Amino acid sequence: MNNLKTIDRQYIANTYARFPVELVRGKGSLVYDETGKEYIDMGSGIGVTAFGIADDAWQAAVTAQLGKLQHMSNLYYTEPCALLAETLCEKTGMKKVFFCNSGAEANECAIKAARKYAAEKKGPEYSAIVTLLNSFHGRTLTTLAATGQAHYHELFQPLTPGFVHAPANDLEAVKSAALENRAAAVMIECIQGEGGVIALEKDFVTGLADFCKQQDILLIVDEVQTGNGRTGALYAYMNYGVQPDIVSTAKGLGGGLPLGAALFGEKTEFTLGAGDHGSTFGGNPVCCAGALSVVKRLDDALLSEVKAKSKLIFDTLEGAPGVEAVSGMGLMVGVKTVKPAGDVVRKCMEQGVLCLTAKDKVRLLPALNIPEDVLKKALEVILACCAEEKTE
Ligand code: PLP
Repeated sequence: MNNLKTIDRQYIANTYARFPVELVRGKGSLVYDETGKEYIDMGSGIGVTAFGIADDAWQAAVTAQLGKLQHMSNLYYTEPCALLAETLCEKTGMKKVFFCNSGAEANECAIKAARKYAAEKKGPEYSAIVTLLNSFHGRTLTTLAATGQAHYHELFQPLTPGFVHAPANDLEAVKSAALENRAAAVMIECIQGEGGVIALEKDFVTGLADFCKQQDILLIVDEVQTGNGRTGALYAYMNYGVQPDIVSTAKGLGGGLPLGAALFGEKTEFTLGAGDHGSTFGGNPVCCAGALSVVKRLDDALLSEVKAKSKLIFDTLEGAPGVEAVSGMGLMVGVKTVKPAGDVVRKCMEQGVLCLTAKDKVRLLPALNIPEDVLKKALEVILACCAEEKTE
């Protein structure tokens, strides 16, 4: 570990504040460090390993494809990406899919498509994208501009122009921002993940969807973190009963391999044409074969299981000593703790439970199929770490 730490510190760009743990292998919701110490994984690689680590079905799908064709250019047809797009459209009612490699790229694609749609329908001056304050949409210069948190912007000016931020849950403010700036689209996360696991209010989302429809302003829902079963619905917008024009997703979609997607609805299915957008690795057959094994299993039974486990988490943590509030939906949970969230996460790690933070909260994003007994064991540790007296 010490040797690895030295090499990492010397050769890896300093963009990540790493925990002092080297993880070497895992299975399901259990992961092991180089000394053999076992941890319960309550973060799933920030919502990526939807069915846990080295999940059998995902592994079989990926390795079978790996032995057949690991990559081919988008100039040719390949089966896994076509079948994945078909499955996503059948399950969502969306019409077409563009595949890329990450959440930020899925949002870039959504933004490009929205601008083209508005330019063609209303004129090029209709280019603004309204996003919400406290949102997070990625780290490329354009998705940073979309991200409604000024501290991410400071050192990287100038960002892509044309983004306006309005307060979440303030429908009148969003409407004014959209109309005054001649918006092409409004982009939201139904649950602000990096912003602290905060769900948008239902009336706000439905009111916004109605407004966008009336004004022919596109509604883009960023489902990078909330998508693919995470909130107990296939996509979080389904909890709100709205129909977006474009959905972006990534993270859990690939189950552990890099895969992003922008899904286009009726209005936008023909917006992007040949040559408008592309990605060398987009729709990679291995990533798509793994994703197909994930998406196929996101059925009603699995989603009910997610909701039941969510209830267990909320029932266990709400009102517990050292816990001020619990927020989120499904298996995307934020825990506001009396002690600083970072201290709780460090304590949990010492006790064999890996959690995340989001702003001032402890964030839990376990695998969707985490066994109930494993979840209960993790919650016992989290409860104890929240309640423990501060020693420092
Ligand atoms: N959008 C949301 C809502 C996210 O949570 C994230 C990442 O955390 C992104 C976009 C960016 O995704 P990626 O890191 O895959 O580019």
